Amino acid sequence: MDLFAGGAAADRRRDEAGADAASLEELRRRRRLHLRRRQLSQRVCARCGEGFSLLFNRRLECADCALGVCRHCAEWNPQRDVWRCCACKEER
Ligand SMILES: [Zn+2]
Ligand SMILES: [Zn+2]
Repeated sequence: MDLFAGGAAADRRRDEAGADAASLEELRRRRRLHLRRRQLSQRVCARCGEGFSLLFNRRLECADCALGVCRHCAEWNPQRDVWRCCACKEER
Protein backbone atom coordinates (compact mmCIF):
# COMPACT_ATOMS: atom_id res chain seq x y z
CA MET A 1 0.00 0.00 0.00
CA ASP A 2 1.31 3.37 -0.88
CA LEU A 3 0.33 6.76 0.38
CA PHE A 4 0.75 9.37 -2.27
CA ALA A 5 -0.44 12.24 -0.23
CA GLY A 6 0.25 15.57 -1.78
CA GLY A 7 3.01 15.22 -4.37
CA ALA A 8 0.74 15.49 -7.33
CA ALA A 9 2.67 16.88 -10.24
CA ALA A 10 -0.10 19.01 -11.55
CA ASP A 11 0.73 19.46 -15.16
CA ARG A 12 -1.88 21.88 -16.29
CA ARG A 13 -1.44 22.67 -19.88
CA ARG A 14 -4.02 24.09 -22.13
CA ASP A 15 -4.17 22.14 -25.32
CA GLU A 16 -7.53 22.94 -26.69
CA ALA A 17 -6.40 25.16 -29.49
CA GLY A 18 -6.35 23.26 -32.79
CA ALA A 19 -9.76 22.54 -34.15
CA ASP A 20 -8.37 21.91 -37.65
CA ALA A 21 -5.68 19.30 -36.96
CA ALA A 22 -8.39 17.24 -35.38
CA SER A 23 -7.24 13.69 -36.04
CA LEU A 24 -3.71 14.26 -34.87
CA GLU A 25 -4.97 16.03 -31.87
CA GLU A 26 -7.36 13.18 -31.25
CA LEU A 27 -4.48 10.71 -31.17
CA ARG A 28 -2.56 12.83 -28.75
CA ARG A 29 -5.62 13.30 -26.68
CA ARG A 30 -6.16 9.61 -26.29
CA ARG A 31 -2.65 8.99 -25.09
CA ARG A 32 -2.90 11.85 -22.72
CA LEU A 33 -6.29 10.70 -21.59
CA HIS A 34 -4.90 7.37 -20.52
CA LEU A 35 -2.04 9.01 -18.70
CA ARG A 36 -4.36 11.42 -17.07
CA ARG A 37 -6.69 8.64 -16.13
CA ARG A 38 -3.89 6.96 -14.28
CA GLN A 39 -2.86 10.17 -12.64
CA LEU A 40 -6.41 10.93 -11.73
CA SER A 41 -6.88 7.48 -10.30
CA GLN A 42 -4.29 8.34 -7.70
CA ARG A 43 -6.98 10.42 -6.11
CA VAL A 44 -10.30 9.13 -7.27
CA CYS A 45 -11.64 5.78 -8.31
CA ALA A 46 -11.10 5.14 -12.01
CA ARG A 47 -14.41 3.35 -12.24
CA CYS A 48 -16.95 5.26 -10.23
CA GLY A 49 -15.11 8.52 -9.66
CA GLU A 50 -15.38 8.39 -5.91
CA GLY A 51 -12.62 10.30 -4.14
CA PHE A 52 -10.25 8.34 -1.98
CA SER A 53 -9.71 9.02 1.65
CA LEU A 54 -7.44 7.27 4.05
CA LEU A 55 -10.16 6.30 6.44
CA PHE A 56 -13.25 5.53 4.48
CA ASN A 57 -12.30 4.84 0.94
CA ARG A 58 -8.85 3.46 0.54
CA ARG A 59 -7.22 3.24 -2.81
CA LEU A 60 -6.65 -0.18 -4.30
CA GLU A 61 -4.71 -0.77 -7.44
CA CYS A 62 -5.95 -3.09 -10.12
CA ALA A 63 -3.29 -5.62 -11.04
CA ASP A 64 -4.34 -5.67 -14.66
CA CYS A 65 -4.94 -2.10 -15.74
CA ALA A 66 -2.94 -0.46 -12.93
CA LEU A 67 -5.68 2.04 -12.28
CA GLY A 68 -6.67 3.01 -8.80
CA VAL A 69 -10.10 1.89 -7.79
CA CYS A 70 -12.16 2.00 -4.65
CA ARG A 71 -13.19 -0.93 -2.54
CA HIS A 72 -16.57 -1.18 -4.22
CA CYS A 73 -15.11 -1.35 -7.68
CA ALA A 74 -12.34 -3.79 -6.85
CA GLU A 75 -12.45 -7.43 -6.09
CA TRP A 76 -9.88 -9.52 -4.32
CA ASN A 77 -8.53 -12.37 -6.35
CA PRO A 78 -7.28 -15.01 -3.93
CA GLN A 79 -5.68 -17.17 -6.60
CA ARG A 80 -3.38 -14.44 -7.76
CA ASP A 81 -3.30 -12.59 -4.48
CA VAL A 82 -4.16 -9.29 -6.10
CA TRP A 83 -6.93 -6.75 -6.44
CA ARG A 84 -8.66 -6.29 -9.73
CA CYS A 85 -11.14 -3.66 -10.81
CA CYS A 86 -14.64 -4.50 -11.91
CA ALA A 87 -13.88 -3.97 -15.58
CA CYS A 88 -10.88 -6.28 -15.65
CA LYS A 89 -12.65 -8.80 -13.52
CA GLU A 90 -15.37 -9.20 -16.09
CA GLU A 91 -12.94 -9.83 -18.87
CA ARG A 92 -12.13 -13.28 -17.65
ZN1 LIG B 1 -15.19 2.96 -7.36
ZN1 LIG C 1 -8.47 -3.06 -14.05
